[in-house]
Amino acid sequence: MSLYPEGAILTLKKSHPCGSREWQVLRAGWEYRLQCVGCRHVMLMRRDQLHKLVVADHQRVAPQTATSGTGCHRPEAASPGAGTQSPS
Ligand SMILES: [Zn+2]
Repeated sequence: MSLYPEGAILTLKKSHPCGSREWQVLRAGWEYRLQCVGCRHVMLMRRDQLHKLVVADHQRVAPQTATSGTGCHRPEAASPGAGTQSPS
């Protein structure tokens, strides 16, 4: 039993004409109310029909910038003697 809760972001197989493939669940039930993330278009889709189209569902929107590098501190730019060239 896989239900998509309200607020979840679903990725469908076919893309919307606006180019987005992600839809947010506005209302869950036997018929789902989905809103396109790209253009805010709202459509209704039956649950069994939706299950065939969903390729991925995200319970919450995770930020894509979850890398190790934080932009607040750059030790390379603060290294002394970067502009001086001393031959050894
Ligand atoms: Zn759209």
